Amino acid sequence: MLSVRDVRLLPKAHLHLHFTGSMRPTTLLELADKYGVHLPEALTSGEPPKLRATDERGWFRFQRLYDAARSCLREPEDIQRLVREAAEEDVRDGSGWLEIQVDPTSYAPMLGGLIPALEIILDAVDAASRETGLGMRVLVAANRMKHPLDARTLARLAVRYADRGIVGFGLSNDERRGMARDFDRAFAIAREGGLLAAPHGGELTGPASVRDCLDDLRATRIGHGVRAAEDPRLLRKLAEKGVTCEVCPASNVALGVYEKPGDVPLRTLFDAGVPMALGADDPLLFGSRLAAQYELARRHHGFTDAELAELARQSVRGSAAPGDVQAKLLAGIDHWLSG
Ligand SMILES: [Zn+2]
Repeated sequence: MLSVRDVRLLPKAHLHLHFTGSMRPTTLLELADKYGVHLPEALTSGEPPKLRATDERGWFRFQRLYDAARSCLREPEDIQRLVREAAEEDVRDGSGWLEIQVDPTSYAPMLGGLIPALEIILDAVDAASRETGLGMRVLVAANRMKHPLDARTLARLAVRYADRGIVGFGLSNDERRGMARDFDRAFAIAREGGLLAAPHGGELTGPASVRDCLDDLRATRIGHGVRAAEDPRLLRKLAEKGVTCEVCPASNVALGVYEKPGDVPLRTLFDAGVPMALGADDPLLFGSRLAAQYELARRHHGFTDAELAELARQSVRGSAAPGDVQAKLLAGIDHWLSG
C-alpha cells in the first residue's frame, strides 16, 4: 500500500511557531469574551481570514489581526493556558520538540514590564513542558519595525535568561522595513551569549534578504527562507553551510507569498540539499498546524514517506534539542518509516 502512514505519528521538531499565533481559535473567543474585547470579524467567523501580505497594506492588516488577538492575553493564567494548549496541539501532531518564538516586549504592558513578562512566559513554558512531556524551548525575537537599540536590549536579556530555556534569537515582522545589518550588534550579542541566530528572511522579499541574514547576522537558521529557491547559488550556500530553513508552506499560501500549495518550492529546496524544518507559523490565522505541513508536502509535492521522514530528520537536526532528545526522535522516525 502507498502512503498510508499517519504523518501525525511521525516524530518531528517544530521550530517556527509564534506565541499568540499558536492560540486555538476557540480559546481566543473565550478570552475575548472574558475581557469584553470586540474582535474583528475576520477572527470570529470560524474561517481563516483572507490575507494578502505581499503588499504593505496586506501585511499591516495581518499585523492588526495579530495585535487584536494578542490584546486578549492579559493575565499570567492566559499565558499559561496558551502555552499549554500549544504544547498539547504539538504533541497531537507528533512534535517531540517545540521552539516557540516570542517578543516579550509586546506582552510587557499587560504583565508588569519586560522582565516579569519574560519570566511569566518562561515559567509557562516550563510548566507546559512538564505537564505534556514535550521538550520546549524559547526563541526571543526582536521586531524589525522597532529601533535596533531595542533589539540589543532584548538580546542581552535573552542571553541573561539562556539557562531558563532560551535557545535562540530571532528577528520578525516586515522584511521590507530596514536592513538586516541594522541589527548586527544585537545578533552578535546573542551569538556570543551562545544563542542560535534565527532571523526571518526570504519570505516577503527575495533571495537578497536571505543572503543578508547569512552575511550580516550570521544566521544558523532562517525563518522561512523559501525565496532562496530563486537563486541556485544561494541554495548551494545554504546546503553547504547546513543552514536550516524554517519553511511554513500553509502560511506562505495564506499570506499570498505563493498562489497555491503546489507553488511553494519545497522540492527545489529539498533537491538542492537545503535542510528544512516545516512549521505552522501562526495556526490561529492560517488555519493549519504542524502535521498539516507534512501532509501538504505529501499531497501537493509528492513527498514519499521516506522523504517525509527525511524532512522530519532535518527538523530534528536543525533544532536546539540536546543530543539524547535528538537521538530518541531520530530513532522514532526510523521506527515510523519501518512500521
Ligand atoms: Zn514567522
